[in-house]
Amino acid sequence: MQARTIDLLVNGARGSRRRGVTACKGCGRAIVWCATAAGKPIPFDEMPDVISLDDDVETVSTEHVHWGTCSARDQFKRPALATTNDAVQPQPKVEPKEPGFEW
Ligand SMILES: [Zn+2]
Repeated sequence: MQARTIDLLVNGARGSRRRGVTACKGCGRAIVWCATAAGKPIPFDEMPDVISLDDDVETVSTEHVHWGTCSARDQFKRPALATTNDAVQPQPKVEPKEPGFEW
C-alpha cells in the first residue's frame, strides 16, 4: 500500500511559522505543527519522514498526520486556529462538512 504524501514548507521557509510541539486541544497528545506548501498549518503526531526535498518544499508521508489519528478530530472545524497567536476569532459560518482533510 502506497502512502499518500503532502508537500510541506521546510521549517521556517517563506516566512512560515516555525515548527513547534504543542498539546492537541482535542485529545491532549503532543503534536508537531508544520505548514503545507500552501502555508496552511497541519499537525503531525511526530516529525514526518521526508520523502523528497525541492528547495524549500519537502514532500512527506501523510502517515502521521494527526487528523488521521486524533480521538477528538471531529472537533476540528478550523484547525488553523490552533496555531495562531492572533486573537482566536469565532467563525460562525462554518459549513457542516468533513473537517480537516483538504489534500
Ligand atoms: Zn488530537
